[in-house]
This record gives sequence, C-alpha cells and structure tokens, in this order.
Amino acid sequence: MSLKDLVYKIAQKQAKTRRKNLIRVLEEKGITFTAHHFPGGRNYFVDLGPKGSHKTVVSSHYDAISGTKGANDNSSSVAVCIGVIDDLLVNPPPKGVRVIFFDTEETNLTGSKAYCREYGVTDISAVLNMELVGRGNTPIFWPIVDGLQSEQFKQKLQNAATLTGVEYVPKGRPPYLGGDQDSFLCYGVDAVCLSLFEQTDLALLDKAQRILNSEHEDTNSDYKAIRLLRSTKIMQDYHSRRDTPHKISESSLQLAKQLVLSFISQKQGYS
Ligand SMILES: [Zn+2]
Repeated sequence: MSLKDLVYKIAQKQAKTRRKNLIRVLEEKGITFTAHHFPGGRNYFVDLGPKGSHKTVVSSHYDAISGTKGANDNSSSVAVCIGVIDDLLVNPPPKGVRVIFFDTEETNLTGSKAYCREYGVTDISAVLNMELVGRGNTPIFWPIVDGLQSEQFKQKLQNAATLTGVEYVPKGRPPYLGGDQDSFLCYGVDAVCLSLFEQTDLALLDKAQRILNSEHEDTNSDYKAIRLLRSTKIMQDYHSRRDTPHKISESSLQLAKQLVLSFISQKQGYS
C-alpha cells in the first residue's frame, strides 16, 4: 500500500470516521498503540525501539477543520508517520521513538497540550512534528528562531536534509501558522515542524515574513502577510474543501518519510 493510499483511507470529512479509519489502519497492520483519552478528544501513540531511554518523538495531527477532508492538512503527515512506523518495525532504532497522532490540533492545540500535561516531557529528547507534507518538493523546518532550539538539534536537522539529498531550509514562523510542536517548545524541548512547499513558494514566504517583521507602522501588514502566504501554491487549498486526496503526491510523502528517518538516525547516532 502506498502512502498516498493511506491518505485516501484517512482523509474523511467526519471526525469520527477519520479516527475509526486511523485505528483500523493501525490494527490491520498489527501495530500496537496506546490511546490517550482527554476531555474533548483522543490521542494515540506507538512506541518503537527500547523503552526507558530518552525518546525521539515524531508526530502529526489527525483531526481536520470541520467540513474539510484535510488531505494535506494533515492526513499527509499521518500517512508519513505510519510509513515511519512500518520502517522502524523492520529496522528497530537503538533508542526509543514514540510516534504520536494528536487529536484537536485545529482547536488551539488541545490534543498536544493534554499529552504534555498527562505524560510530561522529561523523557523526550526531541520532537519532529509534521504539517502539510503531501505536496511540494522543498522541505522547510519551522519555526527556527535563535535561542529556541539547541544548536545540536539544528545541526541534526541539517544533517538529515543533507543525507536525504535536499537543501536545509530553516524558516521563522510562517505568518499565522502554528502546530503541535509549539506545545513542546513551551516546555523548552527541542521541537520543530516539517512542511513541504514548492521551491517557487519560498520567496513569497520570505516576503510575508519580512512584512510581519517590518518595524514600519502599517495597519495592513497582517492582511498583506496573510495574502502572500495564501498565494503560495501549497496554501491555496489550506483549510478549505479543496484540500482533497487526489492532489497529494506520493513523491512528496516519500521525501518527508526519508527526512524523518534520516533525522532519527542522526539523533540516535546510527545510519
Ligand atoms: Zn494542520
């Protein structure tokens, strides 16, 4: 089954169906998972490699904006997480990896916040979260901000990109984009989000960032930044009914999977 097939299985308008389908996929593959019930939702996670050591977390959210199928946002990342689990079951990592499927990201990150409250973060050495990895050819890591993550962590992201044969593109926060990595950054954990954009989108992203960072008083700057972000190829269908599985590209999903696996091998010191 291709990763794109998984996106077709999971990307559904009804939240209950999406959850049921995620569970069905995990069960059909014989993947053991833990359910974390919290008020308003359910997270699921899968542990791989040895227990007890400092874990590398790989994550995605499986909920979607109401009325949308949420193919790129964020069934794409769910599919990549499942691909990563498949690979790590065959090639077990030397240290622990926890793959987490968060619920209710779209409602103020309540799923990942509930996870941090319930399980804490002291057993986590790094978090690689994913958003929007089903289209585009250029990975970006965000938000990369001075002092927010350790230099060692950023070096490992860069090494992972080099190993995968792509350029390392660190970005500040794209205007108004947040994600489950933020729940971990709050606790001082090394965390980042991986997204894929088109190479041609990068200049627009930079321009939007510059407008937001600009010190000139401009009452329209927020609006201008959002408009620029929205005009990138990847964001045109964001949070809309146009975010459908047939627009997802297998090669984008495979690229994200390779990046995650390379990051884990860098983080855990093997390859
Ligand atoms: Zn999302």
